[in-house]
Amino acid sequence: MEVDKDFQIVTMKKQKHIALIAHDNRKEDLIEWVSTNKDKLGRHFLCGTGTTAKMITNAVHLPVKAFNSGPLGGDQQIGCRIVEGDIDFMIFFWDPLTAQPHDPDVKALLRIAVLYDIPIATNKSTADFLLSSPLMYEEYDRKIIDFSKRMHRK
Ligand code: PGA
Repeated sequence: MEVDKDFQIVTMKKQKHIALIAHDNRKEDLIEWVSTNKDKLGRHFLCGTGTTAKMITNAVHLPVKAFNSGPLGGDQQIGCRIVEGDIDFMIFFWDPLTAQPHDPDVKALLRIAVLYDIPIATNKSTADFLLSSPLMYEEYDRKIIDFSKRMHRK
């Protein structure tokens, strides 16, 4: 179909590369969620923004590769890894009630995650639904919109 030419396909492997991020008021919730789902998450590769990653490693004893703290560029590092294809899944418990100093970075990260068609959970129920999907253990073709082709057509 014609429309398929506007997409680039990137295949996610069975083992996902999952980024874990939580704003300060949501860290406890994320740690609890990771703890509840430790066995399932332990089958994948985990990384996260600095403080979140360290707190999860300390509390749950899962290896979580730590980038910089969010306000110091950690969200941007994760966005960069998504663009490069090294991260393909994100659990991001952001705080809907508190303004963040790095709000522009948060917005940029969410935009990049949508653009690269990666699964994103921003609250517990979505994270539960995502993690219980059979697709967590299968390969999956992500469809990434090729904006350059769309722009040339205009
Ligand atoms: P942190 O960053 O894990 O280093 O606290 C999270 C964020 O605020 O984006």
